[in-house]
Formats: sequence, structure tokens, C-alpha cells
Amino acid sequence: MSVSDRLAPFGVTIFSEMTALAEEYGAVNLGQGFPNWDGADFVKRAAAKATVGGGNDQYPPSHGIPTLREAIASRYGPRIGRAVDPETEVTVTCGCTEALAAAFLGLINPGDEVILIEPYYDAYPVYISMVGAVPRYVTLRAPEFALDLDELRAAFSARTKAILVNNPHNPTGRVFSSEELGEIASLCHEFDSIAITDEVYEEMVFDGVHQHLASHEGMWDRTLTLSSLGKTFSLTGWKVGWGIGPESLTKGLRAAHQFLTFTTPTPVQHGAAEALGAPDQFFVDLRDSYREKRDLLSKGLADVGFEVYLPQGTYFLMAGHDHFGLGDDRAFCRHLVETARVAAIPPSAFYHRPDDGGGLIRFAFCKDEATLEEAIDRMAVLV
Ligand code: PMP
Ligand code: GLN
Repeated sequence: MSVSDRLAPFGVTIFSEMTALAEEYGAVNLGQGFPNWDGADFVKRAAAKATVGGGNDQYPPSHGIPTLREAIASRYGPRIGRAVDPETEVTVTCGCTEALAAAFLGLINPGDEVILIEPYYDAYPVYISMVGAVPRYVTLRAPEFALDLDELRAAFSARTKAILVNNPHNPTGRVFSSEELGEIASLCHEFDSIAITDEVYEEMVFDGVHQHLASHEGMWDRTLTLSSLGKTFSLTGWKVGWGIGPESLTKGLRAAHQFLTFTTPTPVQHGAAEALGAPDQFFVDLRDSYREKRDLLSKGLADVGFEVYLPQGTYFLMAGHDHFGLGDDRAFCRHLVETARVAAIPPSAFYHRPDDGGGLIRFAFCKDEATLEEAIDRMAVLV
């Protein structure tokens, strides 16, 4: 009895591995991306109200409670530039994680080619393996982590079923430009491919505004936009996500979703509906506070000797550690946790050729100021 061939190569996630090491060494955990404060009270109160005496204990509709689907449709419609039908074009899932798995299982056939932009979120190659698709990689490179448009074009072929676009991008913090998104859109048209987007960091864009790929000309019909509650509302443990797209793609998503989880716990869906109605100022404050954290950690890391690649979005940043001469990213992360008692993530886990991430390290800055300062102080031992 052992793990299936499909999943055996992936082992335990790098996030769990590094969090366990952080705990073992009493380290400040700038590895796994979760905030070290509680989520917004107004959201929790709505979920609590729906729980005790709320009459919400049984299965909700598979695709989500109407109030949440309506809240999603009204928030995204104006941003995507068209009216979104909450009945046929919105599906509530268990986090973006389930939405991604359902999108792959419901839309991709064995042998289809799927383009991944690397470094990628570690789950993506697993979905490829689960459905028996063939990955094609496009690599973002430091310092800009911009899309190489020639490499992007070369990755498309008549067999390309889909491109997976994570924007803003984990782990680099890159926010793709209009030109980059426009090129993805035009290649999707040329090769008759779809786009699956992962936009969980959409509210953490430090300059300018987030652009949905689905809002590009002609892209609504071929884009499944995925996102979730976790990052924006500091509720990563709630696992409420959603997929928005035309009926044809929504059908594929739901075909898998109904058998994966069937539905998402009802009380947290009520909380999510309340969250999405937050005043604009909530989102402005979120961005401002993350920008300050980014700047604090970037400066601290640069002072210690890292080469910092300033992120345009997300709550992660990548840095070069060559200056310290301590080996590859895994060796460096181990040294960091053992000697400085700071945990981070070795990004080689996010490349199909792990050496490409050897000179890099990923830090998460979704931590309060005192914690970030403590981490910076501890890293002084590296100098
Ligand atoms: N996509 C990316 C790029 C992520 O960083 C995360 C974070 N955990 C997820 C998806 C998963 O989102 P969720 O917690 O909503 O499942
Ligand atoms: N998205 C989080 C990160 O990139 C981790 C989520 C997880 O542990 N699966 O750090």
C-alpha cells in the first residue's frame, strides 16, 4: 500500500516542511504565507450569526449560497467589464485550491498541454499530474521576473488547452503588465486555448490597479477567473474560494466540484458575503499596510546583504542570497533557520529544474511589524 504514482513524486509540501522546521527551532516564520493576526471581526460576526440559531446547518446549493454568489457577481462584474450572472457564471468552492483542482479535473483531458509560468505555486504541477496533462513551462527571471514574450509564444501549440496565470504572482510578487496580459490573450485566441487564472492576491497590488485577464478583449469567453477570501481578509483557514466564468467553463468547474466537495461550509459562506461588501477603504488600508510591511522587510534584508527584488504585489518577496556564499537555496534556508532562527522558503520547489531557484529565497511579509523587525534583527548574525 503506498501513495499513487500520480502523487508520489510530490512528497510533503515545502510549506509544511518549513513550518515544522520553524517550530522545531523556535524560528520567526517568514515561510508559509499566513498572517499572524486574526481576520476581520465584521466577517467573523456574520459567520457566527449564521452559525448559532442561524438555521444554516444543512447542505447549501452545490454552487454556493445565493447571497455570496450575488456578492461575487456584483464585485467582479464592474471589474471584468460585463454583468456576471450569479446563477450560471459563479461557483463557490473550498478555497482557490479546490477551484484549481476542479478546473483541471473538469476542463483538461489526459494529453492536453497546459502552460505553467514558473516559478509556480507548488500545487500546479500536482494538478497537471492528477489529470495526466503535459506541462509546458515559461520561466520568469530575476531581477524583473517579466514574461519573456518569445518564450511565451514558443510554449503555445495546437495542443495547448490552457495557460494557468497567477497574477499577482506568488512567489515573485510580479504584477503582469497590460502588454503581458494582452499577449497572453492574443495567444489564447490564436491557439484556441483557455486561461485559468489564480488571482488570490488581487487586492495586494502596490502600484496601479489589478487587471483581470478576463477583462481583456474577447477573453471573457475563454477565461475562468479563480480567487478566494483567505488573503484579502486574513482568513486563510476559512477556505472559501470561487470561480467566475462563462457558462461553458463554469459547467466544467461544477462537474468536478460537485464530486470533490459538493459544497463549502454554509456559515463561512455567509461571512464571505459580508466580507465582499466591505467599504472601499478596507481595501485601500489593506494595500497601504502591506506596502509598509514590504518596505520594512525589503530595507532590512538589503541592509543585511540580500539582493532584494521588490515585489509589485502579493505578500511575498524574493531575494538573492549569493552574497553569503552558503550554498543553494535549501542549504541557505537550513542555515537561516538553524543559526538566525528565521524560516523562509527555498524556491527551487517552484521550478521544474530546481537549480533555477538555487540562488533565491522567498520571504513572506504577512506578519506584524514587531515580528518583521525581530526577524531582521535575528538575521544580523549572517553578516
Ligand atoms: N494560489 C496561490 C498562488 C496561493 O499562494 C495560494 C495560497 N495558499 C492558493 C492558491 C490557495 O488559496 P486558498 O487558501 O484559497 O485555497
Ligand atoms: N499559499 C501559501 C504560500 O505560498 C501556502 C499555502 C499552503 O501551505 N498550502 O505560502
